[in-house]
Amino acid sequence: MPGACPHFVFACFKRVERWADRLTGAAGPFFVAIATLLFIIGTLCFLDVILPSIAWPWLSTLPCLLIILNLFAHYYFACMVSPGFASDPPPRTGNGFIWAKKRQTPHRPLTNGVRWSANLNITPASTSRCAKCGGSKPERTHHCRVCNRCVLKYDHHCPVGINQCVGLHNERHFALFMAYVVIATFCFTALGWPHLFVALGFNFNDEWEHRMSPVVFSIIYFLCLVMCLAVGTMFTWHLWGVAVGETAVESQDHEHYQQVAQSRGEIFQNSYDLGKFKNLQLFFNLGPDGYPIYTLLFPFRILPYTDGRSWARKPGLERHHGIYVGEELTDEEDN
Ligand SMILES: [Zn+2]
Ligand SMILES: [Zn+2]
Repeated sequence: MPGACPHFVFACFKRVERWADRLTGAAGPFFVAIATLLFIIGTLCFLDVILPSIAWPWLSTLPCLLIILNLFAHYYFACMVSPGFASDPPPRTGNGFIWAKKRQTPHRPLTNGVRWSANLNITPASTSRCAKCGGSKPERTHHCRVCNRCVLKYDHHCPVGINQCVGLHNERHFALFMAYVVIATFCFTALGWPHLFVALGFNFNDEWEHRMSPVVFSIIYFLCLVMCLAVGTMFTWHLWGVAVGETAVESQDHEHYQQVAQSRGEIFQNSYDLGKFKNLQLFFNLGPDGYPIYTLLFPFRILPYTDGRSWARKPGLERHHGIYVGEELTDEEDN
């Protein structure tokens, strides 16, 4: 029967993919537990071995403790704050001390789902229906195969790092978590190398006089070195995406749109791209209409600038330029 074989291969592939998704989902908590344990051991190594030897302890101790606090808090929030599901009502700003306070009007009410007012071209998101869960799907929402739900401003599902999706409501914590991993591991490797020499026995003048085992310290040191390079690369790539106004999925889609537009002699324009500075401001919700810049230094909770049902767009654009209605890629295409 012609055509039966590709069908069979495709069905097998789908089955393998579903099993892989299930396995990914099941292994998630295990990865998070391992990561938490490594962060705790790393912190103990730092507090026991490196911190007592730093110059000007009265000046350096507080910033070091702040970096550790941010690292753990943003990791906790990235894992625990819901990425924002399209079927859930928009969350409200809390009142506790963990919620950052706005510079001017505290708790500005949502206007068309957006907390910013000044000089932004805000348009309501177009909505479609998800072919997989049947829910309403505002623009920039994607269906996650592992979570089996529609996630607002879906970036990617992160099984190894945080065991859930990165979306509208936890993307700020996820980005800051990566930033603090890079800062923390950089400080560890930059300040810890004299201790590594002693731990490995290369320094014959000094004895290892710490409670932490030299073997554990050496392993953590090399892990920090690898993490600093690996997460540093990931973070740079992620931040570049934020700066050009696209998520991980959108960066793939936009490559396709560019080709489609080019084949017609047109130039594709991403309507979510308001310029690098504004894109970063909106992502971190900073600026005159958002929160003060010091909120990047403390592990505050902050709601995104939009509820995911409206988007700020490049002035003069109501939708992407160079791609027509019906040409946009959808999640259904991987069916
Ligand atoms: Zn869905
Ligand atoms: Zn997911």
